[in-house]
Formats: sequence, structure tokens, C-alpha cells
Amino acid sequence: MVGKKVIITGVPGVGKTTVINTAMKKIAMEGVPYQNINFGNFMFEVAAAEGLVQDRDQMRKLDRHVQKRLQKLAAEKISTIDGNVIIDTHTSVKTQNGFLAGLPEWVITAIMPDVLVLVETDNDQILIRRLSDKSRVRDMESSKFIAEHQVLNRAFAASYAMLTGCTVKIVVNADFLLDKAVEELSAILR
Ligand code: AMP
Ligand code: MG
Repeated sequence: MVGKKVIITGVPGVGKTTVINTAMKKIAMEGVPYQNINFGNFMFEVAAAEGLVQDRDQMRKLDRHVQKRLQKLAAEKISTIDGNVIIDTHTSVKTQNGFLAGLPEWVITAIMPDVLVLVETDNDQILIRRLSDKSRVRDMESSKFIAEHQVLNRAFAASYAMLTGCTVKIVVNADFLLDKAVEELSAILR
């Protein structure tokens, strides 16, 4: 079976993981199997084994060459996975040197996605969600900065579409409208 590869991205705190997990349950009940792969987990496995970080939120503070090495290793492993896959990752990552492409040419062409999903919502809603998430070390950013990051992510997404021919789908995950986001993502996965 030729699988469908769907990359799902969104700024930290947009609720990407919640949308993915809920959509996965929904389509699993319909008999559509998907593997859910978290790109950051693949990077973190290596980073933790090398003693570079204690938690995943420290990775974006590492030297950019180290981040790129971890990123490339993750992409190589992920590219060997067959079947339907969801890849939970970032179109760009905020680092101390500016935004790092989450899917530079050697990553996006190793994966060759069918669809790239951008999960977006209102900037203030993202800010509030970050404040209430105690499970992660989220960066404190202004709503204006979050807005810039979301706009920039669309530009990164367009370049990934140019490199691979993938389609780009925007899924809005607004407050109290998780069901709508889940339905939109499910339609992409079916
Ligand atoms: P997440 O749990 O999706 O927020 O990912 C955790 C961390 O993994 C991020 O803060 C980044 O440091 C790293 N990461 C995830 N995906 C990528 C990627 N495509 N390129 C570079 N770093 C990534
Ligand atoms: Mg997540």
C-alpha cells in the first residue's frame, strides 16, 4: 500500500497535538490506520542520549549546527517509515539566531509529504493557551510576535510546496471549535 504522508505544523501552543490525537481516534474508528510520528521526539532521543538536553524545550536553544544535525538524523529515520503517517513538527522554529526552517530541502525531500497542514488560530488565544500550559516550557512572546511567526510559517509552507508539490491546508483551531478543526484534519487524512 502506498501511504499518505501528512505533515502537521503550528506555532507552539496552537493545540496541534490535541487536534492530531483527536482526529487520529476519529479516523481509527472508521478503519483508516495512521502512525503518528513526533519529529521532536526523534530529535530528543538522540539529544538526550548524547547528554545535550534534559527536556525537549531545551533543543531550540542548542547551537544551530547541532539542531540541524539532529534534524537531519530525525528526517532520515522518518523517511524509512511506510504506510499512512502523520508527522507532528514545525514549519519554523524560533532559535537564538532567528527562525530555523523546520523542513529545509534535505528534510522535506527525504519525507516527500502529500499534504502540509498549518494549524492556526488567533494570536491572543495562543498566548493564553501558552500561559495555561504547565506541562511545557513555552517561550513568553507578545501577541505581535506570535502573529509574525504565523505569517512567516505560511511563507515557509509555500517554499515546501514548491520543493515537493505537496498541497498546503490551513486548519483553524479556534477556542470552543476543536470539533471543527478535527473534522477538517480528518477529511485530509481519509
Ligand atoms: P514540539 O513538541 O512539537 O514542540 O517539538 C519540540 C521541539 O523539537 C521543538 O521546540 C524543536 O526544538 C524541535 N523540533 C521539532 N520539529 C523540528 C524540526 N522540524 N526542525 C527542527 N527542530 C524541530
Ligand atoms: Mg506538540
